[in-house]
Amino acid sequence: MRAGPLQAGEPVLLIDRKSRSYLIWLQPGGSHDLRGGRIAHDDLIGRSEGTTIETSRGESLLVLRPTLADYVLAMPRGAQVIYPKDLALILMLADIYPGAVVVEAGTGSGALTMALVRAVGPAGKVFSYEIREDFLRQATRNISRYLGEVPTLVLRLHDISTGIPDGPCDRLILDLPEPWQIVGPATDGLRPGGIFLAYLPTTVQVQQAVEALHASRAFGRADVVEALVRPWNVSGQSVRPAHRMVAHTGFLVTARRLGPQPRETPGASRNLIEEESGGNRH
Ligand code: SAH
Repeated sequence: MRAGPLQAGEPVLLIDRKSRSYLIWLQPGGSHDLRGGRIAHDDLIGRSEGTTIETSRGESLLVLRPTLADYVLAMPRGAQVIYPKDLALILMLADIYPGAVVVEAGTGSGALTMALVRAVGPAGKVFSYEIREDFLRQATRNISRYLGEVPTLVLRLHDISTGIPDGPCDRLILDLPEPWQIVGPATDGLRPGGIFLAYLPTTVQVQQAVEALHASRAFGRADVVEALVRPWNVSGQSVRPAHRMVAHTGFLVTARRLGPQPRETPGASRNLIEEESGGNRH
């Protein structure tokens, strides 16, 4: 549910005066205890989002549906999730469009999967692969608790380094430790013009991934960026950056799948592919 009165089965956030938030799932007859006070779920079911309620001890709580960003930070995690700042950038750098066929690995906790499912819309398709059965189970639960039934999503217990059975896809999104192993499978699994994107925590991994992309004649226009998002404090005269921020999460490596290239003519001084990928897009 995205709008209308709050319904049984939905996740909602209870937010206190200090902006601390608590994620609960509404259940008929259910209750939630907070600092010695109690909230009956039945008092919330049927109410409007944005309402303020009081616990039995008189503490006021704002009630809102969690955004996807709220939800991924609060949901149970098997694997470490990708942070919202990176999820946002991934959708634009990988140009995830309505109707796209996207292959993703690994599923992990399902945070990126949900962002992809929303972006491809009802005409698109997301295939998400994971090698760990326990993570796949946790992700399935996380996704269905937030998005309900998702007919456009296929979750598979599959090692993507052995191939991409659902290709050729339009976009290939990787959050796993050794994406250079997937450059080979991606040659068949990603269509010409398609986008390869890998999320990587360390520079050593970035270097190895970019080298593998450069070494493959099937890829060009390799790029690397990171996102630093600095929150601000705006309170009366105190208008300044927050003291703390998430300083490092990961780097985003992108590349385009090339189509057939004109053969280098004997004596030609320049390689067309290298010339094409040499420009700086930023
Ligand atoms: N992006 C996810 C987190 C992924 S963590 C999220 O936002 O929730 C990385 C995951 O990749 C782990 O769950 C790991 O088991 C999985 N993985 C590692 N190698 C893999 C491979 N070769 N094929 C499929 N999944 C893989």
